[in-house]
Amino acid sequence: MPDDGPRRDDGARADDRPSGDGGARGHMKGPWEGAGGRLVGLGVSQGRAAGPMIRLGEPPKLPAPGPVTDPGAEAATVGKALEAVAAELNRRALAAGGEAAEILEALAMIAEDPILLEEAERHTAGGHAAPHALDAAFTKHREALAALGGYLAERAADLDDLKHRAVASALGLPMPGLPSPGHPYVLVATDLSPADTAGLGPDVLALVTERGGPTSHTAILARSRGLPAVVACAGVMDLDDGTMIGVDGGTGEVAIGLSEQETSEVVQGETARRARLQASRGPGGTADGHAVKLLLNIGSAADLPQGEDGADAEGVGLFRTEFLFLDRKQPPSFEEQVSAYAEVFARAEHVVVRTLDAGTDKPLPFLGLPGEQNPALGVRGLRVDRLLPGVLDTQLDAIATAARQAGAEPWVMAPMVTTAGEAGDFARRARAKGIARVGVMVEVPAAALRAGRLLREVDFLSIGTNDLAQYTFAADRQHSVLADLLDPRQPALLELIARCAEAGVRAGKPVGVCGEAAGDPLLAPLLVGLGVTSLSMAGVCVPAVREALAEVTLDECRERARAALE
Ligand code: PEP
Ligand code: MG
Repeated sequence: MPDDGPRRDDGARADDRPSGDGGARGHMKGPWEGAGGRLVGLGVSQGRAAGPMIRLGEPPKLPAPGPVTDPGAEAATVGKALEAVAAELNRRALAAGGEAAEILEALAMIAEDPILLEEAERHTAGGHAAPHALDAAFTKHREALAALGGYLAERAADLDDLKHRAVASALGLPMPGLPSPGHPYVLVATDLSPADTAGLGPDVLALVTERGGPTSHTAILARSRGLPAVVACAGVMDLDDGTMIGVDGGTGEVAIGLSEQETSEVVQGETARRARLQASRGPGGTADGHAVKLLLNIGSAADLPQGEDGADAEGVGLFRTEFLFLDRKQPPSFEEQVSAYAEVFARAEHVVVRTLDAGTDKPLPFLGLPGEQNPALGVRGLRVDRLLPGVLDTQLDAIATAARQAGAEPWVMAPMVTTAGEAGDFARRARAKGIARVGVMVEVPAAALRAGRLLREVDFLSIGTNDLAQYTFAADRQHSVLADLLDPRQPALLELIARCAEAGVRAGKPVGVCGEAAGDPLLAPLLVGLGVTSLSMAGVCVPAVREALAEVTLDECRERARAALE
């Protein structure tokens, strides 16, 4: 491991994880002990939860066929496996109700089909082990359905899910797919697909995954739903279903084997924390009154808070305009753009608009950009202007028009700026349209290294830590295996942030952070200590960041920053 791997506030290294060693390292904080030890991953969504864990079952792998000594026992296993599948589906149907219940009951009936059982038993009598017999029987059933064509053929794919469940049960493995045990649980998985996460019910208390990084799908979804989450937690899939675990989505700790008393302390503490956060209001700042603007990251006006319960933020620090047009085949018209921007300007007092950030993880089909070998290093963000110059000018025009209509003075910034020359060119073009406050995002190390020079061209900087981490560590931001490199506590990343902030202080110009790191309450004081003047984040993160800042003085923030850099 490199010497400067990410360190957490309590001195534990994120990439130096104990493997259930009883917490012998003595660095864990909090009320729980966890008789079965602890694991440490990356905490990516604040909050604590405790409850029985259940692993997301993955499609089982068939073992190599071997000799069968007791065909009768194999036949009994087949029967039990099919019964277990039907029982599980019927239980889920009962919990789901409505149309979903009908579908689940129909699937349970297939699992109970005597013809399927007979077919599988025929295979066990012929010397096959139960998992292989089930596999063969389901495969035959599937082929028969597919041959019927039409609606029934479409249902053939459902049989694969049933087969995976039955084979898993015969092998003594958890059944694949989202569990629905009928009680609250902590969902544990190797990784979660978008489909898995879309189906998460209210009975999920927290998420823990073996893979995944701070900007992974799991992390983003968990934050948006306020679910505590830990990713990159090695060894968690080796724990048994039903184990009582405690999850701390801030520190990344997973305590194993919690007692009843510890579980109820976690639940009480979390309930109190949520009540405190719900009541949290007002501008951001440290305990000794150093102001730090707390802003929102939005993709459209729909993400702005509505009513009293919304985040009490001080404006919008990142309006990701490309989110308005992600699925479009046709370019949005000028008028359509004006109305989308004006809606946001009319509803939020201070708005930082980012011009289209197309390419790589955010493709915009209507631009018709050519495919690339290495899209993250290709024509994306501001660089699209090199191929399609009209797009940026039209957007700047639309933003300026919308601002006039709404009587607003938005700040406007460009993504993926690399040199002072690019910053200057962007600033001139934006100002020519009548935009008064122009800035650039710092997402490329070259821009961070030359922050002072960039600030001679523009009025502010906004640090995109998601991409800045990706490019600093040459680690794809979506790559779960490289999660430790993408940890925003990495000192090299912090050094680049410090460099930008210091340049801001010298120039007397604001330097904010708008990547996911800004919404992490453990990191927020550190970023402020580095000299950052605003933090922009998803609405659900604002209260916890506000409370975390209110607990520390500016000097304490600076001390944390110094320690982290060292
Ligand atoms: C970033 O890169 O940190 C950022 C805020 O931009 P996005 O996540 O939209 O690429
Ligand atoms: Mg970015």
